[in-house]
Amino acid sequence: MNNQQSQSNNYTKNCKSTNKDFIFKIKSKSRKNVKEVVEKFYKKQTEHLNSLPIIYSKEEVSQILNDKKHNYIKYFGKAKNRTMLKQNPYLYKALLFHTDFYKNNCRNKNFYFTFRLLIAGKYNFNLTREQYCRCGKHIMFDPVLKEIRKKSYCKTPGCTLSANSQNHFKYLYGENWEKKYYEERILRNMDPERKKRRQLGGRIAYQKRMSRSDTKFHCIGKREKELLDKQEQIDNCVIDRFFTVIGYYPDGYCHKTNTIYEVYEKHHKRDSTKERDLIRQNQIQNHLKCDFKIIWDDEN
Ligand SMILES: [Zn+2]
Repeated sequence: MNNQQSQSNNYTKNCKSTNKDFIFKIKSKSRKNVKEVVEKFYKKQTEHLNSLPIIYSKEEVSQILNDKKHNYIKYFGKAKNRTMLKQNPYLYKALLFHTDFYKNNCRNKNFYFTFRLLIAGKYNFNLTREQYCRCGKHIMFDPVLKEIRKKSYCKTPGCTLSANSQNHFKYLYGENWEKKYYEERILRNMDPERKKRRQLGGRIAYQKRMSRSDTKFHCIGKREKELLDKQEQIDNCVIDRFFTVIGYYPDGYCHKTNTIYEVYEKHHKRDSTKERDLIRQNQIQNHLKCDFKIIWDDEN
């Protein structure tokens, strides 16, 4: 009984929202007055709630929350706790009292009323290991889905596993994890379209890094401008120096003659670079159906 009494003093928070209607009624009064009156009302509410005995057991709360009249789903949503408080203050108090035990296991900042309803109404206070996180300390309630997440992770170090790891799949799918792992990790990555998209994303990210003038990644060939200017005169064309195509930034492009211009320094003669350049060239040419002119800068 002692325990019951000490617990029952903590319901102040839960009936705070009941004040809103009241504020509306006395809006015309001065601010100071409103504050006083609200506090009075608030105190009265709390006292009233504290004075109520707990007449329902856990089992009874679960039972009532599953009947037609007080079905727990009815109380999902904002400020629905007020509805229950009006309809059946005894049920309200018993629900708060019996679910308070789970407060310490709650991962969310707020111990939502909906969370309490699920514990008592849907799960009948029988939460299994599945409803707890991997380390077993917390229960994850999803306020958007209004559901308790199964096999979740909490923020305690060591609880979370990398979403791509084999252990994560073992944890989620148990015995059949290998099949799931193959489908989601290996088979998906074998899709050539997906591979292309990822490579394009990588190239764009790389180029963005390169084009930042505040980092050391920024690089334009030393004689690039000079050599392209010369080439413009030779070919009697206009070379666009800011042209981009499928995530690449070629050194120059002539729109009229559909020609890509690249200034290559010595290091492009290395085998590893050659191979990469050729792939790049093929991809650009396949895309644009263009000519590809390489200007060698042998000095750099
Ligand atoms: Zn955990």
